[in-house]
Amino acid sequence: MSLATHSFILETELFPLCKALRMLGFDALCRSDLSHRDAIARSIEERRVWVLKSPATPGLHYGIKYFLLETDEVPDQLDEIDEQYTIREGVTYFSRCLKCNLLLTAIPEEKLLNKVPERILQNFNKFQHCTSCKRIYWQGSHLKRMRQKLESWGWREGEAGG
Ligand SMILES: [Zn+2]
Repeated sequence: MSLATHSFILETELFPLCKALRMLGFDALCRSDLSHRDAIARSIEERRVWVLKSPATPGLHYGIKYFLLETDEVPDQLDEIDEQYTIREGVTYFSRCLKCNLLLTAIPEEKLLNKVPERILQNFNKFQHCTSCKRIYWQGSHLKRMRQKLESWGWREGEAGG
């Protein structure tokens, strides 16, 4: 698999876009979760694209790739990013924690007891969790609604044409 992968760091005001990128499975940090120093370091070391809405963002150093958005709505912003970085083929719905940005991992069934309602355990068979915040994810109605929203914006999983 030689899919070009891009990772991002987004200004605090772009949190809705950051969350949408995470829903689509992309590595997206939110500026507000990091100190200024860490944000600079990680964008250089991890070659993250720093996504901005305003060119007046202070402290942009030489060596940081940045991308200036022109639109205001999340669906348009996603299209702008795709136009520049061709991320569409890399969509994997809900493979990351929406809160921490970490990749989710499978959770053993015994660990679900007392954490997930019985009715959920009976109705779903694929559970994943975030090893950082311990949040458990499954394909319930909440994720389904978010997924439908993303699809309505033109974002489908694995639309690589192959
Ligand atoms: Zn988490």
